[in-house]
Amino acid sequence: MKPPPFSYHRGRTVEHAAELLRELGPSARLLAGGQSLLPMLNLRLAEPAHLVDLGSAPGLDAIRRDGDLLVVGATARQAAVENSADVRSLVPLLAEAVEHVAHPPIRHRGTVVGSIAHASAVAELPCAALALDAQLTLLSADGVRTVGAEDFFTGAFTTSARADEIVAQVAFPVTGPGTGQAWSEFSLRRGNFPVAGAGVSITVADGEIVDVAIAICGVSDRPVRARAAEAALLGSRPDPETVAAAAAASVAELTPRGAGDLAAHILPVVAAPVPAWGYRASVAKSQVRRAVTTALTRAGGVR
Ligand SMILES: Cc1cc2nc3c(=O)[nH]c(=O)nc-3n(C[C@H](O)[C@H](O)[C@H](O)COP(=O)(O)OP(=O)(O)OC[C@H]3O[C@@H](n4cnc5c(N)ncnc54)[C@H](O)[C@@H]3O)c2cc1C
Repeated sequence: MKPPPFSYHRGRTVEHAAELLRELGPSARLLAGGQSLLPMLNLRLAEPAHLVDLGSAPGLDAIRRDGDLLVVGATARQAAVENSADVRSLVPLLAEAVEHVAHPPIRHRGTVVGSIAHASAVAELPCAALALDAQLTLLSADGVRTVGAEDFFTGAFTTSARADEIVAQVAFPVTGPGTGQAWSEFSLRRGNFPVAGAGVSITVADGEIVDVAIAICGVSDRPVRARAAEAALLGSRPDPETVAAAAAASVAELTPRGAGDLAAHILPVVAAPVPAWGYRASVAKSQVRRAVTTALTRAGGVR
């Protein structure tokens, strides 16, 4: 299908793009890599009157270290993040998660920040951002504000950013000594959105877990932190039984979702049958166990 008619505007700078969004009002949408927005236009799931293209605004594609943070700019492509040695060494969970996004041609166009801003409940990168406590910089004609990932995702394809705000960059804390990170997911075919996935970051000191963050995708209207699982692991000297109990706790705290509810969260981007919630929860539990086990091994803390 062809998209509905729209007028195209090129943002010369990120500030100019923000001015255009303000001027054109709620019928305008920002265009980044177009790998979610253009299919949505073609399927008539979105009918914006105006597209504001951020693609040629200078200086936004940087991937750079800033003290204890790794900063990914709004137009940095998923492939650039995947191939960055800095990302691999400083934020390994992000590097591992982005490898699972779609296929190489899509990762060469799609942006990391665009995926996070799109806020799909089944996508890898919003979930990784949540596990990593990423900080998002929102820029508008009014100025700049920073929002943590947990406050950013408010529902299916819904965030706390206003329609005229641009996510100018996302900052990820860099890992320190004793920290292991891992992404694990199960999808029906390689490159598909996962049925469920888990991102984990664990810090071990003297054989004890001193910090842990776990986020799951595919089981709710947004990525969720597995707080009960984190509590089960924190302070423990991990063994396979503790990890299995934490994985069970990670899904026990979730609210079961009906088929219609899940379809509303997921279908706009997936033209395939939506697996039932019970199946998703059971897959999520396995992914939490696998990701925690791998992260612990990488942290040097498995017994
Ligand atoms: C066949 C196919 C398979 C895919 N498989 C997967 C998959 O397995 N996992 C996965 O996670 N994704 C998958 N995707 C989606 C892909 O990762 C997209 O690239 C990503 O979701 C959106 O990034 P984008 O840069 O293309 O954003 P766009 O499509 O340009 O924008 C998406 C939305 O986010 C908004 N937006 C974009 N950037 C910003 C910003 N900086 N500030 C504010 N709002 C912004 C736009 O206005 C729009 O509403 C797939 C896509 C396709 C076509």
